[in-house]
Amino acid sequence: MSTGPGPADQTATRTTEPVEPETTPSEPVREEYENLVDLVRKHRFAYYQEDEPLVSDAEFDELFQRLEEIEALHPELVSNDSPTQEVGGEVSAAFAAVEHLQRMYSLEDVFSLEELEAWLTKATAGIEKLGDGSHQPAWLTELKIDGLAVNLLYREGKLVRAATRGDGTTGEDITHNVLTIKEIPQELSGEGFPEEMEIRGEVFIPSQAFAAFNEALIEAGKAPLANPRNAAAGSLRQKDPAETAKRPLKMFVHGIGAREGLQARSQSETYDVLKAWGLPVSPYSEVLGSLDEVLDFIKRYGDKRHKLLHEIDGIVIKVDDFAIQRALGYTTRVPRWAVAYKYPPEEVHTKLLDIQVNVGRTGRVTPFGMMEPVKVAGSTVEMATLHNQDVVKAKGVKIGDIVVLRKAGDVIPEIVGPVLALRDQQDPPVRDFVMPTECPSCGTPLAPAKEGDVDIRCPNSKSCPSQLRERVFHLAGRGAFDIEALGWEAAIALTQPAEPEVPPLTTEAALFDLTPEILADVRIRREKRTKGVPTGEFELVPYFYSKGTAKSPSKPTATTEKLFRELEKAKTQPLWRVLVALSIRHVGPRASRALATAFGTMEGIRNASEEELAHVDGVGPTIAAALKEWFAEDWHVEIVDRWAAAGVRMEDERDESMPRTLEGLTVVVTGSLPNFSRDEAKEAILLRGGKAAGSVSKNTSYVVAGENAGTKLDKAEQLGVPVLDEDGFRELLAGGPAALEAAS
Ligand code: NAD
Repeated sequence: MSTGPGPADQTATRTTEPVEPETTPSEPVREEYENLVDLVRKHRFAYYQEDEPLVSDAEFDELFQRLEEIEALHPELVSNDSPTQEVGGEVSAAFAAVEHLQRMYSLEDVFSLEELEAWLTKATAGIEKLGDGSHQPAWLTELKIDGLAVNLLYREGKLVRAATRGDGTTGEDITHNVLTIKEIPQELSGEGFPEEMEIRGEVFIPSQAFAAFNEALIEAGKAPLANPRNAAAGSLRQKDPAETAKRPLKMFVHGIGAREGLQARSQSETYDVLKAWGLPVSPYSEVLGSLDEVLDFIKRYGDKRHKLLHEIDGIVIKVDDFAIQRALGYTTRVPRWAVAYKYPPEEVHTKLLDIQVNVGRTGRVTPFGMMEPVKVAGSTVEMATLHNQDVVKAKGVKIGDIVVLRKAGDVIPEIVGPVLALRDQQDPPVRDFVMPTECPSCGTPLAPAKEGDVDIRCPNSKSCPSQLRERVFHLAGRGAFDIEALGWEAAIALTQPAEPEVPPLTTEAALFDLTPEILADVRIRREKRTKGVPTGEFELVPYFYSKGTAKSPSKPTATTEKLFRELEKAKTQPLWRVLVALSIRHVGPRASRALATAFGTMEGIRNASEEELAHVDGVGPTIAAALKEWFAEDWHVEIVDRWAAAGVRMEDERDESMPRTLEGLTVVVTGSLPNFSRDEAKEAILLRGGKAAGSVSKNTSYVVAGENAGTKLDKAEQLGVPVLDEDGFRELLAGGPAALEAAS
């Protein structure tokens, strides 16, 4: 294969705008350049040799980009051993060095769709210049697998050697380790193999297997691996192949090196041949004809990048036709016929400034990391939960560590673990997190809810200000009372303002007794800002009222007025929302809807026995027990009573015209009825004053059985509960048990 420069004169630089070289670099520029070269070398060593990066890929990419920028401005600085002229890795002394038959390359990166468009336009122009018009660009578009590049050498169809990429010319012999990867054939199937053939691909750990592997490590008390890429690299570069064999490694082919005698015109055609010989070829690649199609591919896979078999850090776009690849050729580091589009970074490094604890709605004490703010996957992150003290321990993070922070798409940010290699350099030195023994909010001694629980709790549910704040915030949520004007800051202002000392709410029971006057003097502590930028200075500001001047006296803000309008509206919300608002353990919207449908009134739910509650479809014994426990507390009952006294509707409206034929009866519907859906049947029972239960017991009055009724019908027969078909059900609805008796 020719490696000479092609007609399209593309340099390896990432800059898409032409850059005018400047004159001799100034001393500071020279100094910056030399520092950058050292830094990039140091990071490459940590990444390729030690499989333990010191900075995130995004930070490394930034350094590398800056290096390229300076070189584009001052070409005389570029020496042969500049990092921009070399393929990243080198060969560690722990492995035998092997020469690749044909050089391995890295890839040119682009970091935005604009840069990609510019690259494709330029490459297309280059291809068109090739001459006879027969060269239409066809873009082989593939996922950029986040793993480790390997080069497999097959002779006469037999795997004889496997090596890492190394510096591109020489790699590390990892044959014994690669032999442990089951799907890499030691012997190809079929016939017509070239005498010698180099297969390039990426070895990776599938995302799910990685998660499971890490869980097992944590369980065994070992530190989890930082990410699948480093894990794959570390696994393949084990000295003992038995260790490699334990790792869930896979491989996908993404290229071909030396291939004497292989007849194929394009890379995609080659993939088909390799697949037929039994090599693992990625199922995800597509040959596309236009920029729009490529952009669509990027978007499609960007949307589902976390649902794929493996992690990806971008998309690789290659000229498919071998003749054009040959004509375009290579720079010293990358092919001119391919480019990698990198998705925005999802993993960054930042300093863990502190670990604090938050007391949640149910009193659970959760440690969370406070970090130096950092941009990741499109948003700035400065806090991330650490769940409980066992997780802090398992992750091995200490306060002051540089940590790997990950935010995958819309997923909540996660502290992955510390960068151990940097731990000794931290000033002040890192320190262990110690779980407090007293509630940071109310000073009550903390304890697990029951022996052996990992989570510890503040038992002072009634008056712990943190728990109250969380409950107030929760009850205003969209799935509860839906009070938009009661957000996070308002919840703080109501339950723990800087002034007055006794907050407007010391229990949520008083929520509907709030008046504008009560809120007039509430002040919170807020950071001063100049032109939107925080100054580090704090002041006390009124929260619910305007500041007021001599001319215009302080009055409720528009949001406060909205708050009172929304509180009025909240009083008319359906029963299930009121139930959600009560913060009863395990009782979310699903169970609340089921309870409201089954009982229709708060009174009914409160007076139901645990067994009756547990029989409701979608409730079950845990929720039933939680409900009984909750209603057993006086201060909980007081919330319901005070809300009811303030006018909160505690029952769902009934159609009063409906005859109450099922008053006092419990009916179970099972199987499918010809003319009622399950919900319609339940609704019909409730409307007539009955209870619609989910399971059969001796308290069941009737079972209505449709087609395919299963175990509930068996149970009814066992217990002697009367069973009705749809006609019987209609009679029951219309005239109650008496009508049934008359009919029989
Ligand atoms: P690269 O990872 O950006 O791209 C080249 C590699 O992509 C190839 O060698 C190949 O192994 C792989 N690849 C995956 N899927 C492919 C596909 N479908 N087709 C072709 N190749 C595919 O380049 P690189 O030179 O290996 O490494 C540079 C990257 O490594 C940078 O993005 C950088 O973020 C990271 N890095 C990080 C640090 C650090 O300290 N964090 C240090 C060095 C490098």
